[in-house]
Amino acid sequence: MSFDRKPKVEMVDDVPPTSRSTPKPAESKSYSEVDALYVALPLLSKFLPYSFQSLSLRPVRASEQTKFNRAHKEGMLRHLVDGVSATLEPGVSAYSLTSSDFYFVMYWLRVNSYTKVPYQHHTLCEDPKHVARVMSDDPKEALPPESLEIKMLVTSSSLTQRELDAATLEKFYLPDAIGSRYPLGFATMADVVTITEKEDQIEASVAEAAAAGDTSRDAEGEFEEWAWLADRASYLTQGDNGERDLESRIRLVQTMSPDDIQELEDYIQAATNYGVDEYVTVRCEECGAEKRTKVSISALSFLPSARGGDSS
Ligand SMILES: [Zn+2]
Repeated sequence: MSFDRKPKVEMVDDVPPTSRSTPKPAESKSYSEVDALYVALPLLSKFLPYSFQSLSLRPVRASEQTKFNRAHKEGMLRHLVDGVSATLEPGVSAYSLTSSDFYFVMYWLRVNSYTKVPYQHHTLCEDPKHVARVMSDDPKEALPPESLEIKMLVTSSSLTQRELDAATLEKFYLPDAIGSRYPLGFATMADVVTITEKEDQIEASVAEAAAAGDTSRDAEGEFEEWAWLADRASYLTQGDNGERDLESRIRLVQTMSPDDIQELEDYIQAATNYGVDEYVTVRCEECGAEKRTKVSISALSFLPSARGGDSS
């Protein structure tokens, strides 16, 4: 699974210190108990990054499908997040989800909404003996090239899921640790969308400057410089009321020492160590060879378009 542009720091996610110390309300009731169309989905972050402690969602409707189609056509992540938001229980926005949880939700939507377009993963057998038989000129040995094709039906249970281990985050909140100096948090889809759109904004601005005669600017370089800061800043919390936008968190990162950055990066690694494992083991029906393969999905084409089709 990847967004058009993957953050330089591996994976994505986090928990604001405030929500970690806030006890979970025991009386919280799942929305699925209120509306039977909805199903409660236990998120792999165990809700550590959020103020809500359960999340229910329903399968995709045509009104969301049209947003997914548009996301795919225009290459705009925003429309995808809007569509996914509409499937979530009232009051919860997909923009507030971490990217690992967002993908987990997308898997659920994919498997549960498109039952007539099974989610198949395609790969080819790489077993040397099998490949040799396909290449063989001997009619007794030879196998057709199609025999190398492996198709696997991806279901909600075929992908390994890993939950966030909150205990690994504790050391970052010790006195003198990074969490005592900076408001650690979890990157959300809102940040991911902001970062992907910034790239377009910089490109447009550089193109405009070039059209006006200033060809000194380098859009790629400018974006990379900004994104390096933004990827790290997205792991500082926005605050409960969104009081810290990405630019103000970037300004905080700009003040960090190299040691702070190193510690922040260690934190990011611990805070993103969960999600759906993209690797599955498939078995060749022809020769029985097994191989580990990546179920790689681009966010924008993950959910089938109106014409259907696979997403592997
Ligand atoms: Zn094979």
